[in-house]
Amino acid sequence: AVAVPAVPTAPTVRLFPPSLVVGVGASKGAPAEEILGLIGTALAEAGLDARSLHSLTSVDAKADEPGLLAAAAELGVPVRCFTADELAAVTVPNPSDAPLAAVGTPSVAEAAALLGAQATELLLPKRKSAPEGRAAMATAAVARRPVRGRLAIVGLGPGARDLLTERARTELRRASVIVGLDQYVDQIRDLLRPGVRVEATGLGAEEERARSAVRLAQQGLAVALIGSGDAGVYAMASPALAEAGADIDVVGVPGVTAAMAAASLLGAPLGHDHVSISLSDLHTPWEVIERRVRAAAEADLVVTFYNPRSRARDWQLPKALAILAEHRDAPATPVGIARSVSRPDEWHKVTTLASLDPTEVDMFTVVTVGNTASREVAGRFVTPRGYRWQV
Ligand code: SAH
Repeated sequence: AVAVPAVPTAPTVRLFPPSLVVGVGASKGAPAEEILGLIGTALAEAGLDARSLHSLTSVDAKADEPGLLAAAAELGVPVRCFTADELAAVTVPNPSDAPLAAVGTPSVAEAAALLGAQATELLLPKRKSAPEGRAAMATAAVARRPVRGRLAIVGLGPGARDLLTERARTELRRASVIVGLDQYVDQIRDLLRPGVRVEATGLGAEEERARSAVRLAQQGLAVALIGSGDAGVYAMASPALAEAGADIDVVGVPGVTAAMAAASLLGAPLGHDHVSISLSDLHTPWEVIERRVRAAAEADLVVTFYNPRSRARDWQLPKALAILAEHRDAPATPVGIARSVSRPDEWHKVTTLASLDPTEVDMFTVVTVGNTASREVAGRFVTPRGYRWQV
């Protein structure tokens, strides 16, 4: 008979990033074994692994101390020393008079650990060695170099899986935390690694979501902040980056925004200069929206309306279309309506500025209005590339 192990053993990978800095204070002639013994017990006490050591640090006066150099050589890490003045400027939990008298700073181990790691907190405060039968000749303290977090702002495209970019897929797999609206998280849940943390929130929590994504990245995590279409278009990128400092890395992954996805369905409506306008007056006063619609009308731009109409906001779209109609030949101007583009309930229609029925428009829809040169050709919405072609 062959014994089958009850728990199959899977290969495990452990990573030891070089993140730990041990500050060392040493009396003249401190033996390497004493320093090594102290570092060993200090790390063990804190549950840390010597394979994650980055460097030993100390004060300039100890730069040639043989025991310190031998200990570092044994551990395979460099020694970095600071001047007494640099160390004296660091606030530490346990300053003392002895090093102040000997080398001119109230702390060597703690101050050197913090300075070397560029950290503000110690993982382990100062410890003394405990040699048998004589006074301790070494002290050590441990700090961790702060990790630099990464915030990926990832556009998921309009819905269909094959309109999600390869780069977006890579970022989703790379992340250890996903932050986004619950419906978008559901859209890509199968692409996530097992065990990844998901922070899904409901509609309306945009600012909170942005802040939470940035905070997690500041803690050193790899965060993916997701949004439909392009995450920078009427979405999370700007509230997040308005909060983010230079202390995190940020990468953006572009996505196919609704206007582009709709355009390919409708024909070629964006062949000349065009603009997007959101009709949501949740964040923008209506007077501002109206001024922009008017400017687009006068400038003869093709206009795509995002957030065009909801149950609570039903008069804005007809009003915006009326403004455009003042500057267009309404019966001859094509208008495209595209709903749930690339999703199972996708629907679209090419109509005109004169005969558009607003009740066919909802919040899952974009509406694209042509310029004075746009035409319907064989049922498709076409905006010629140059005014020269009109003649
Ligand atoms: N970041 C998104 C836009 C968010 S604003 C993007 O780049 O596409 C939300 C509005 O986008 C909706 O009210 C709707 O007008 C539009 N929208 C988003 N996805 C859409 C889709 N698949 N089909 C049609 N319109 C869509």
